[in-house]
Amino acid sequence: MRNTGALASDVRRRIEAQLADDVPWNRVLNSICTEPHPLAVEMASRAAHTNLGDVRIFRGTKRIEREVVRLLLELLGNPGGSGSLVSGGTEANLIAMLVARETARARGRLTERPEVVVSSTVHFSFTKVFHLLGLTPVVVPVDDDLRMPAKETARRIGEHTVAVVATAGSSEFGVVDAVDEIGPVVAGRGVHLHVDAATGGFIIPFARELGHDLPQFDFTVEGVDSITIDPHKYGLANVPAGAVLFRGAEDAGRFSVDSFFVDTPVHHTLLGTRPGAAAVSVYAVLEHLGRDGFRDITRTNFEVTRYLVDSLRAAGYELFAEPQLNIVVVRLPHAARISQLLESRGWIVSTSKRFGETLRLVVTRHVTRETVDEFLPALQQACQD
Ligand code: PLP
Repeated sequence: MRNTGALASDVRRRIEAQLADDVPWNRVLNSICTEPHPLAVEMASRAAHTNLGDVRIFRGTKRIEREVVRLLLELLGNPGGSGSLVSGGTEANLIAMLVARETARARGRLTERPEVVVSSTVHFSFTKVFHLLGLTPVVVPVDDDLRMPAKETARRIGEHTVAVVATAGSSEFGVVDAVDEIGPVVAGRGVHLHVDAATGGFIIPFARELGHDLPQFDFTVEGVDSITIDPHKYGLANVPAGAVLFRGAEDAGRFSVDSFFVDTPVHHTLLGTRPGAAAVSVYAVLEHLGRDGFRDITRTNFEVTRYLVDSLRAAGYELFAEPQLNIVVVRLPHAARISQLLESRGWIVSTSKRFGETLRLVVTRHVTRETVDEFLPALQQACQD
């Protein structure tokens, strides 16, 4: 650290110079995060000093967090449930698996080698979670539609199983597992069913309202015990804002750590000091946009996705699968080289090799028809070079 501090104007200038080197959103076609809503940014900055780890001081901020959890539970069809705001999908999935393990322990069915049934496309955050919690994954291969098959899932449940994880909006393909089929086959087996809707949680409810044919994935489905939903993805809130929600009013308390400070309430999250700014920014967006606002954003999102799909097909590209949500995957030989060329020209896309070489394009709020019109010639050029 320097001995004498620099002028604020100098520090500002240096930070601005680094930020200017970040890729502008309208060239980003690989991210499931997007530019936060301006009201979220404004209110998060207003609450930058708040800490949800100390709710004796930040009691007003805590009320906002409670209200956000209530609004999210209501969105997912379970006003009587419980939950917490966390740093993102990874922490939410970690807490859900901790609760699943503790539930198995309480039911006397925790064995020496606890297992979790997951699909082959489950998010890699679970690799971290399983490593940290000593859980063993039992992997079900996805079907031809890249979905976790309900019957195969049920067959994998055994004496060691503590949880099943389904995904509502995979980050790689935007595929929604048939949670409405998986729920009933898991229900009654004494096993926790978690739905990772980190990506799809803020799209699927509104897309269904708009008439898109997507499976129900929330607490209205029999058997669903917990859900991850991330406001810092399609919820337009500032990073870091995730949420983990539970069916039962007491379930969030199954992971509960007492502080040694008198009067400090127990923690149900991994982080101790937690940003109140995140709760405030989520609250601002939910209240300001309401269901109508999110439906409008989702409608536009699906229109731009359709425009991208039609434009790609018209230009002769073959899609890997028909997109269910807003992620478009294109079969493309030499995808990794083309992605590098695109990056050298300012465009960020991602690629995958899992099912042959593919290019993955994500249509979030910052991706417009104009973005698509500018991107396609750049892609065609990169394919020729
Ligand atoms: N689960 C899914 C389905 C995701 O798409 C992601 C992130 O992309 C995560 C979990 C992890 O979320 P985070 O990066 O916020 O920890």
